[in-house]
Amino acid sequence: MAAEHVHCLIIGSGPAGYTAAIYASRANLKPVLYTGPEPGGQLMITTDVENYPGYKDGIMGPQMMDDFKAQAERFGTDIRYEVITKVDFSGNPHKVWTDAGTEVHADSVIISTGASAKWLGLENEERLATSGGGVSACAVCDGFFYKGQNVVVVGGGDTAAEEALYLSNICTNVHMLVRRDEMRASKIMQQRVLNKENINVHWNTETKAILEEDGKVTGVTVLNNKTQAEKNLDVTGFFVAIGHKPNTGIFKDWIDMDEVGYIITKADSSKTNVGGVFASGDAQDNVYRQAVTAAGTGCMAALDAERYLGEKGIV
Ligand code: NDP
Repeated sequence: MAAEHVHCLIIGSGPAGYTAAIYASRANLKPVLYTGPEPGGQLMITTDVENYPGYKDGIMGPQMMDDFKAQAERFGTDIRYEVITKVDFSGNPHKVWTDAGTEVHADSVIISTGASAKWLGLENEERLATSGGGVSACAVCDGFFYKGQNVVVVGGGDTAAEEALYLSNICTNVHMLVRRDEMRASKIMQQRVLNKENINVHWNTETKAILEEDGKVTGVTVLNNKTQAEKNLDVTGFFVAIGHKPNTGIFKDWIDMDEVGYIITKADSSKTNVGGVFASGDAQDNVYRQAVTAAGTGCMAALDAERYLGEKGIV
C-alpha cells in the first residue's frame, strides 16, 4: 500500500500538540495529529487547573484537554488515536510509522510528545495522583490545595528544592525527603532550602508507604536507610520530584538532544537540527513545564512549520 502523504504531522496530544494543531489547521496546513499512548498527556492525571489563563473559575485537567481537542477539530485537524513507533528523518519527506504498521510521509513534523513525571513505584501512588487524593508531581499546579497544611516533597535535585521552596510559602510545614546525605541540587538552591525555617530536610530518608484514609493522604511512613529507624509523618500532601523523562526515545537517532533526552531547539524558535522537524512543549523544555508555556511553544512550532512549507513552495 502506498504511504499516505501529509503536509504537517503532529505527534502528541498535550497542550503543545493541540495548540500546534489549532494554528496549523487555521493556516490550512491540513494537519494530522497522532495522539500517542496517553491522549491528552500529563493533564489527564491532574484534577483542578487554576493557573491557565482564560479559565477564570479553574477547570479539570481532562476537561481542559477535551476543550483543546474540540478546538483543534473545529478547524479540521485529523486526530488519530495511534502511536508513532518509528521515524526516519533522513530526507524529505520525513517518514513515520504507526503502531498499526501504517507508513506516513510528511513535509513537516511537529514533535510534542511531552515528558512523564517519574514516580517512586509505591502501590497507591499513581492512583492517588490521578484521583486528586493528595499525591502530585507538580507543586505549582497543586500546591494551593494544601494551603496551611503539612506536606512531603521527595527528591534532592533542583526540582525538589524548587517545589519545597514554593510549597513553603503556602504550607505550614514541608518535609523534604532526601535519600542520601547530600542533595544533588545546585548549592544556591540547597542554601535556600536549608535557610527556610518551615522546610525540614530528612537526610538518608526513603518513603516506605503513603498512608491513606477514604482515598486521601493522611501520612507517610519513612525509613532512615542508615539507622533503619521508621517513623510516620502527618501530612495531607505528597509531592514526588525525582525528575521527568522526556518521551523522545524514538527520535534519538535523528534529533539533537541533551544527555537526559530533552530535544535541543535553535534559539528563539522551535527548529531542531533537522529541516522541517520542529519541537514544542515538555519534550524540549525542562525548565518551565507549564501547560501555558507548552501551548505557547506549540503555537511557535506551527508558525515555524507554516513558514518552512511556504519557503519550500509546498503550500
Ligand atoms: P535530578 O535528576 O537532578 O534529581 C533527581 C533527584 O531525585 C535526586 O536528588 C535523586 O537522588 C532523587 N531521586 C531519584 N530517584 C529517586 C527515588 N527513587 N527515590 C528518592 N529519590 C530519588 O532531577 P530534577 O528534576 O531535580 O532536575 C532535572 C534537571 O533540571 C537538572 O539538570 C536540574 O538542574 C534542572 N533544573 C533546573 C532548575 C533551575 O535551574 N531553576 C529547576 C529544576 C530543574 P540522588 O541524587 O540520590 O540520585
